[in-house]
Amino acid sequence: MAEKTHAIVIGASIAGLAAARALADRVDRVTVLERDALADDEIVRPNVPQAHHTHVLLAAGHRALEAAFPGLTAELEAQGAMGSRASRTFWFQDGAPFTIPDEAVPGVAASRPLLESTLRRRLLADHPNVTLLDRTAATALTLEDGRVTGVRTRDAQHRADLVVACTGRGTRLLDSLREHGFPTAEESTVRIDVAYATQEFRRDSADMDTTTAVVLDDPAGSHRAGALLAIAPDRWIVTLSAQHGDPAPTDAQEFLDFAHALPSPVIAQVLDRSEPLGPVHSYRLPTGRRRHVERLASVPAGFVALGDAICSFNPLYGQGMSSAALQAVALGEAIDAHGVAAPGLPHEVYTRASAVLDAPWAMAVTADFADPRAAGDKPRGTDVFNRYLTLVVRACHTSPQVALQFFAVQNLLAPPQSLMALRTMARVLRAAPRSPAGRARRAEASTREAEHSHEPMRH
Ligand SMILES: Cc1cc2nc3c(=O)[nH]c(=O)nc-3n(C[C@H](O)[C@H](O)[C@H](O)COP(=O)(O)OP(=O)(O)OC[C@H]3O[C@@H](n4cnc5c(N)ncnc54)[C@H](O)[C@@H]3O)c2cc1C
Repeated sequence: MAEKTHAIVIGASIAGLAAARALADRVDRVTVLERDALADDEIVRPNVPQAHHTHVLLAAGHRALEAAFPGLTAELEAQGAMGSRASRTFWFQDGAPFTIPDEAVPGVAASRPLLESTLRRRLLADHPNVTLLDRTAATALTLEDGRVTGVRTRDAQHRADLVVACTGRGTRLLDSLREHGFPTAEESTVRIDVAYATQEFRRDSADMDTTTAVVLDDPAGSHRAGALLAIAPDRWIVTLSAQHGDPAPTDAQEFLDFAHALPSPVIAQVLDRSEPLGPVHSYRLPTGRRRHVERLASVPAGFVALGDAICSFNPLYGQGMSSAALQAVALGEAIDAHGVAAPGLPHEVYTRASAVLDAPWAMAVTADFADPRAAGDKPRGTDVFNRYLTLVVRACHTSPQVALQFFAVQNLLAPPQSLMALRTMARVLRAAPRSPAGRARRAEASTREAEHSHEPMRH
């Protein structure tokens, strides 16, 4: 009889749950180890403090999770999550709102704890071969002859054919492999210094039709941003952010003031009529960081790391959970092609995960460098692409087709290069000059010029 296969996943956050789901179909037994205590209700647990903040699930991630957990969207909505439609989205960028067609990417908006607890419940209910041990921290990997053979916890040792570390941005497990003679991955980093502030508000279910509002200030200016999301018929979550030393608000009054100073009043108007449901939560993130595990010359058999452990983006773009879900799909495909215990599996997983990460990382870094204060590993061509993106954004003010393509890219449904396709480029070049923001700027510039030409000459 063939030996039974066992995989261990460390970390039961989004990456860990998605990876465990992919493994459940491909090995006999999956054990998930999580250091936090896990409860059924919607709580923010100590080691995932970002769960206080708005978590947008991009369409590609939504589709991947729905495919892995059929009926997930309906289940989330049954617990109060909101179906989101483009026609109910207000998106304000570069001085004017976008014209958004209704066919643009429908989605689901939920609190991060609700999404995570629902995924966890579904994983355990649908897959009896998955066991979850909470309050169980992995303290070390065990290795024999260059292969990871399992995980040590405080009072036990667990053997496995494959260990998948989904231990988040601060993980030390990858670096611990250095002690066993394995190289550490090169990193790309971008200094972003993002400060987040989030507060929830009571929502009147009859309150405006718009369920999502995003307001972005010029990255070369204040680079402040606000996002308002209905995560239940009676709950708004609102996140305000600033970058590079500009402080985000820390109390309720500052929160209101900051919202009022955004370039569109839409979010502030909602806050003015809504009762706060809790305190302002803060979060700071110094860098976007990608570990290039795909470039490693040697990696131990029996071990891979996924999710924020290998790539943690500027959270403003909402890419982390979706990338994690897509990396889990890549994990499953690599196992199908090579087998769970194959020595070449980790390299294959990293190659596929890297292909998943390339587009969101490129998009995040491009957007980060639109702010002249950003510093770090800047890919060639970033400034040129950013200049073109300015035109794309202006075109979105009047062209629903360009906005549709913009959202497809942003939701990881189409590659960033698709914005350069001839048809789209032609639309961008036609529509950008019609942008009310562009017109307003040109009018302002010509007024300044006229004033200047009427100024008396000084000698
Ligand atoms: C402020 C903020 C806002 C964000 N907004 C969005 C958004 O809008 N959309 C989006 O898609 N993403 C967003 N993200 C990113 C998102 O939170 C992550 O990408 C997502 O949680 C997936 O991360 P992960 O599962 O890899 O790691 P984490 O979520 O960091 O989870 C790691 C898990 O591993 C556990 N763990 C760690 N070490 C051990 C150990 N030794 N033993 C056992 N368990 C261990 C931890 O307790 C934790 O449960 C945001 C992030 C931040 C910081």
